[in-house]
Amino acid sequence: MDSINAAADRSAAAAELGNARADHKHADTSERPTSRQPRKASKQIDGTTAAPSGSAALENLTAEDAMRIVLPARMTQFEPFGKARNGSPIPDPDGLGWPGKGTLERLHDSKQEAGERQTRLAGAIRTVLECIGEDPDREGLLKTPERYAKALLWLTRGYEERLSDVIGGAIFAEDHDEMVIVRDIDIFSLCEHHMVPFVGKVSIGYIPSRGGHVLGISKLARIAETFSRRLQVQERLTKQIAMAIDEAIKPRGVAVVMEATHMCMTMRGVQKPGATTVTSAMLGAFRDKDKTRSEFLTLIRSPR
Ligand SMILES: [Zn+2]
Repeated sequence: MDSINAAADRSAAAAELGNARADHKHADTSERPTSRQPRKASKQIDGTTAAPSGSAALENLTAEDAMRIVLPARMTQFEPFGKARNGSPIPDPDGLGWPGKGTLERLHDSKQEAGERQTRLAGAIRTVLECIGEDPDREGLLKTPERYAKALLWLTRGYEERLSDVIGGAIFAEDHDEMVIVRDIDIFSLCEHHMVPFVGKVSIGYIPSRGGHVLGISKLARIAETFSRRLQVQERLTKQIAMAIDEAIKPRGVAVVMEATHMCMTMRGVQKPGATTVTSAMLGAFRDKDKTRSEFLTLIRSPR
């Protein structure tokens, strides 16, 4: 784990990603009361409905439950992602989370524009076929440019996903102050240097703040999915997942560990099949407390 531990300094990660909240401090886990206080009933957010309480209930949340639960006001705008970040020239009015120069244009394509985009992309793929020494007019390749264009747009559909929509309906007020971990989430992404796949698994953990909010369990995987369906480097993908969770629910800490195989390494270049790259991002309690971090690392490695 130490080898390529990109476990990043919270402020370094923040600066790199242009986060304005770089010096936000997480509460210390040691502040937790030593004798367990009785779990408070879930907070009534809007006076009429309440999130189910207890972690078991949390796991059994139905879509119907989710619909009844009212978002904290700040989440309806997903404010941190709604602003241009320090150091980033790209405003993010749609809550995409770190959009690129062409992201907003793609997001706001009309149906016709989306069609034109795909046609233009297919034209480029036809050129690729010519350049590699193929005949784009031979039967087997006739539809390849169109197919590839569609596939590539699908593989990068994360550019069309607003984090506020991804997370939107699944933030619950819940007095749960223990670690929540979802591990071994499959990741399929494209490395931005070679545009070939890197695939692997990511494990995500967080500790909700006391009296704070938890995320619907499936949303951890959805956040990972959104960021992985963009051109990435593994280190940044790892950090973006951690920071999105951090900004969404302000937990006491977030931990993300990803292990992936990069096709640019295994099928070209150094050709080291089986080599994997491990990256991690530790924020808040996971960064400050060795014990908390070790507990997470032990749990994600424990046998099934
Ligand atoms: Zn690469």
